[in-house]
Amino acid sequence: MIKNVAIVGSGFLGMTLALRLAETGAKVTIFESADRIGGLAAAWEIGGFEWDKHYHVTLASDTFTRKIIEEIGLGDEFKWVETKTGFYTDGKLHSMSDAMEFLRFPPLGLVNRLRLAATILYASRQTDWRSLEKISVENWLVKLSGKLTFEKIWKPLLRAKLGDSYKRTSAAFIWATIQRMFAARRSGLKKEMFGYVRGGYARVLRQFSERLMSKGVEIHLNAPIDRIEKLPNGSFRVLPRRSRRRGDEKKVVLRDGEVVVESTKYARVQTAAQVAPGFSGMFLSEPGLKSSVAVSPDAALAMREYDQVILTCPSSKAAEMLPQLTDDEQLKLRNIEYQGIVCASVLMKCSLSPFYVTNITDEAPFTGVIEMTALVDKRDFGQNTLVYLPKYVSTDDELFGKTDAEIRESFFAGLERMYPQFKRTDVIAFRVSRVRNVFPLPVLNYSDSLPGVKTSIENVFVINSSQIVNGTLNVNETIQLAERFFNEELRK
Ligand SMILES: Cc1cc2nc3c(=O)[nH]c(=O)nc-3n(C[C@H](O)[C@H](O)[C@H](O)COP(=O)(O)OP(=O)(O)OC[C@H]3O[C@@H](n4cnc5c(N)ncnc54)[C@H](O)[C@@H]3O)c2cc1C
Repeated sequence: MIKNVAIVGSGFLGMTLALRLAETGAKVTIFESADRIGGLAAAWEIGGFEWDKHYHVTLASDTFTRKIIEEIGLGDEFKWVETKTGFYTDGKLHSMSDAMEFLRFPPLGLVNRLRLAATILYASRQTDWRSLEKISVENWLVKLSGKLTFEKIWKPLLRAKLGDSYKRTSAAFIWATIQRMFAARRSGLKKEMFGYVRGGYARVLRQFSERLMSKGVEIHLNAPIDRIEKLPNGSFRVLPRRSRRRGDEKKVVLRDGEVVVESTKYARVQTAAQVAPGFSGMFLSEPGLKSSVAVSPDAALAMREYDQVILTCPSSKAAEMLPQLTDDEQLKLRNIEYQGIVCASVLMKCSLSPFYVTNITDEAPFTGVIEMTALVDKRDFGQNTLVYLPKYVSTDDELFGKTDAEIRESFFAGLERMYPQFKRTDVIAFRVSRVRNVFPLPVLNYSDSLPGVKTSIENVFVINSSQIVNGTLNVNETIQLAERFFNEELRK
């Protein structure tokens, strides 16, 4: 019998699982609340160019990412670039791109620089991350690097990513970050090599979704799921939220007792999966879906039955969708605290610096500066510069309530303080992304209270980045998690 599986979420986790399941002959349906696939890795348009909504690079050591990109036929499209890293400290920009620059790093005296280097080396060689989960990151770093270096370097960096929650964070967080940083430098002469696929994640996701659809996977966009219902026969219904956003309206009519939408708009979304503007729409003629009689997702889709349901959305959302879970499961899912992000993309005429990443230890309205065009060919952006200004914040931070204009004002003022050559008149486009649930806070003893992927409801699984216990949030870890889960639980 063909297995019918529903996956909630079209990020890399959902898409990888869909691919593997479809390869076994399962019938897979993906539900995505956004109007595009890809989740955190999705693309958008800025100043007439299509690029990742959030900055993304691949490391040479990202074997899972590279394998899947190879599988979908884009393996030869990687471009590898040696990048530089900057530090903005005491009102000045410093290069920290190789060991010599590190040893000359002016804000610290020689002894502290050596202690900092020793800390990083020590962390890179540690393997027992579980014991680090029991130690606070502050205690660990103060012990290894000294109080002064902690205050001057580590604390501002931790605060930038975790806010005041750094006080509750375990040493496993900085260990995982250093491990990844080291992986980036492992090749060659310890130079930092970063890669990207020509065309960015927009191209990767387009190709990925085409591969999925060629294997019969259905992708429904603008389909926020509200609840999973278990039926007496043991199968499940996946129920979408009733309210739809403005612009998604469709005319639903009853014809011969069948619910149909007369507008072809939804049918187009449903079949072509709207992978990106300009996508050829080759799946418009998908068999069995006549655009003039497309079935309303709210009605007929909600009546479909599935043998298995996999939720890849944030844990608290999964808890809401599954009120049938035990109290203990509910508590564990809802207790996972997330860190959010407000991330601005700025397309401008002039470059800010030669650094791909600039870490900031001074006060600034954003966490760091990522100059994408220090990595990606400027010709892809009409010779302009693409810069990201991320600000990591708690899920209830007041920044989420600020308008784009307010954020632009404070971020531009920050750029003016850091880069004398920055001129507002050089800015071509500015866009803001806001995501409340980006990554779970790696608090002390994090993995002890983590719920399992298998729930108490047979054939319902909750899997997301909260299960990444000994790594940082990245596509490689995400795909690895999906592959492991598929092999251990779904392949049977
Ligand atoms: C600023 C930033 C920079 C990053 N940089 C890098 C990088 O350089 N390199 C790298 O490898 N990785 C990077 N990442 C991490 C990478 O984007 C993630 O690891 C990956 O995208 C996570 O995929 P996922 O499927 O687990 O989650 P998500 O992408 O979050 O997917 C979950 C999906 O579920 C959907 N969903 C939620 N609720 C519902 C609902 N009720 N109904 C239907 N759908 C729902 C969401 O819309 C989303 O599409 C970065 C992330 C961010 C935010």
